[in-house]
Amino acid sequence: MAKRTYSVREYQAEVAALLPALPVAVTPLAGCRGLVLAEDLVAAVSLPPFDNSAMDGYAVRAADVAGAPVALPVADDIPAGRTAVRPLEPGTAHRIMTGAPLPPGADAVVQVELTDGGTEVVTVNSAVPVGRHLRMVGEDVVAGTVVLSAGTVLGPPQLGLAAAVGAAALPVRRRPRVLVLSTGSELVEPGRELEFGQIHESNSVLIAAGVEEVGGVAEVLRFVPDDVEEFRSVVAARAGTADVLVTSGGVSAGAYEVVKDALTGRGVEFVRVLVQPGGPQGSGLVDGLPVVAFPGNPVSAALSFELFLRPALLGALGHRSVDRPRARARAAAAMTSPAGRVQYRRGRHDSGSVEVVPVGGPGSHLLASFAASNCLIEIPEDVTEVPEGAEVDVVLLD
Ligand code: AMP
Ligand code: MG
Repeated sequence: MAKRTYSVREYQAEVAALLPALPVAVTPLAGCRGLVLAEDLVAAVSLPPFDNSAMDGYAVRAADVAGAPVALPVADDIPAGRTAVRPLEPGTAHRIMTGAPLPPGADAVVQVELTDGGTEVVTVNSAVPVGRHLRMVGEDVVAGTVVLSAGTVLGPPQLGLAAAVGAAALPVRRRPRVLVLSTGSELVEPGRELEFGQIHESNSVLIAAGVEEVGGVAEVLRFVPDDVEEFRSVVAARAGTADVLVTSGGVSAGAYEVVKDALTGRGVEFVRVLVQPGGPQGSGLVDGLPVVAFPGNPVSAALSFELFLRPALLGALGHRSVDRPRARARAAAAMTSPAGRVQYRRGRHDSGSVEVVPVGGPGSHLLASFAASNCLIEIPEDVTEVPEGAEVDVVLLD
């Protein structure tokens, strides 16, 4: 049977369908970074929760210091954390620290720099208007209102806000568990010496890093040689232990295509996506375990992750937007591209620049060029020649 062919969009949908929305779990804040809030967060308290001082200084009635310089007796000392404060009697001052509750009766704070800093009697050298250096209850957040809406991506400021309104944990879709398995009899662990004909295994760390970057939890399995039985036994042992298994290598047209040989007819369909690099792909369910099989060339594997698995993981995590930002730029050099396939070239595009500079050639083994790039140049399937200076679509990777 001829291999099915897919456009990039069609195959993205195919992979996304293997990864349904992950279940929501109430998760301590420390575990939420980068995840998506599943329900609106309603503030349990106002921010600030009480009127307080924005400065170290003296709580006063503005009218009492209108004729500055004036000397006022210091009737109390209010550090941050004081839970009960005495009212401010007219004609007196309370020494007050930043974040300390404002005493009833005070309507301004004189910062310490405008005084002599006295502890028994303070001389205030400057008049201040009513309201100076006060932070009023509810100025930032009013209790009972939504402070973070469902769908918000939880970065550092959002997590800080959740804590500030008293939430210790948030409902988020849990992190997907992703198994990463490389194949190839030529592979050797980095750190070990190569014999002639061997190469260091690099796809698993690359894919795992990509998984972690979007909020997943990657487990790298010991890579397997091009041995169908060994490969099958690793896959069988891990059924039910993860949300998806990603393999690399062994899906092309050659002999010894271990992934293809092991999984054809067992739930995985091997197809051709009209893209370069990354054309040969496989995906399906093996004993209930979603499997996504990428080609082995490092740039092909990386691009496969970028185009197919990354958006699927983001979608399962509840991200509303799963696409990278894009730009239009002028090609700094001419490029050629195969007919009938979308080609992704590696490039550099600096923000503010009108140009994109291709980095390295189209070869899918050119990992150093990829590592030196910050974008992909997308050349549509019907374009075979991109002249220097032509406008192209750029996918921004950082
Ligand atoms: P394959 O898809 O198995 O035919 O591999 C294509 C090319 O990618 C070959 O040159 C492999 O040696 C190389 N390759 C496959 N897997 C890896 C890997 N995990 N790390 C680095 N290179 C790999
Ligand atoms: Mg191989």
